[in-house]
Amino acid sequence: MTDPSSSALVLFSGGQDSTTCLASALSRFERVETVGFDYGQRHRIELTCRETVRQGIAAMNPLWGERLGEDHMLDATVLKSLGETAMTHEVSIEMTEAGLPSTFVPGRNLLFLTLAGALASRRGLGVLVGGMCETDYSGYPDCRADTMAAQAETLRLGLDVPIRIDTPLMYIDKAETWALAQQLGGDALVQLIVKDTHTCYLGERGELHEWGHGCGTCPACELRAKGWEKWAASR
Ligand code: ZN
Repeated sequence: MTDPSSSALVLFSGGQDSTTCLASALSRFERVETVGFDYGQRHRIELTCRETVRQGIAAMNPLWGERLGEDHMLDATVLKSLGETAMTHEVSIEMTEAGLPSTFVPGRNLLFLTLAGALASRRGLGVLVGGMCETDYSGYPDCRADTMAAQAETLRLGLDVPIRIDTPLMYIDKAETWALAQQLGGDALVQLIVKDTHTCYLGERGELHEWGHGCGTCPACELRAKGWEKWAASR
């Protein structure tokens, strides 16, 4: 059995951020497993991208292939029953009266981290790796470093395991996320992210832009495309 502190569970959705986190974890931990969540998302495309990305990343580097272990899919569809959001229902993407975008799913990251923590403790994995980020954040309170620190403490106390939450993207912007992928896995990883990951809120795959597939106009596509442009200009 590997030392828990050298093994990680990556919260892996199949998007740009969590794929970069997976590569980061594979370069730093001896054993890496992945977890995905079905929360009744309107667009299932991210979930179908996951296995393609896992296989691509494992084939890219022999050490990564050796380190990459099981994938887990957990049912978090209870979130959909709590109320409508643009991620789970036919609701337009806009600012809500609460001052948060309608894409915010209240409690989502808290639930994901609780479920991931429970799974990690069962699997003997000591570190949760996630793509939460304060820099580009759309005001999601559950992506803040303070929230992560509090959640890690809750998991340590409630599960009685020395679990850690590792967020490699917390203080970097989308351009730096592209740069990090390049640094971790070169052009091969950048191209895997461009072609096989999914970020678009509208579930659009159609056209392949330089930065990847997507509608190009939803907030997720805009952020991804702008990050790409900024990074490309700096290369
Ligand atoms: Zn889009």
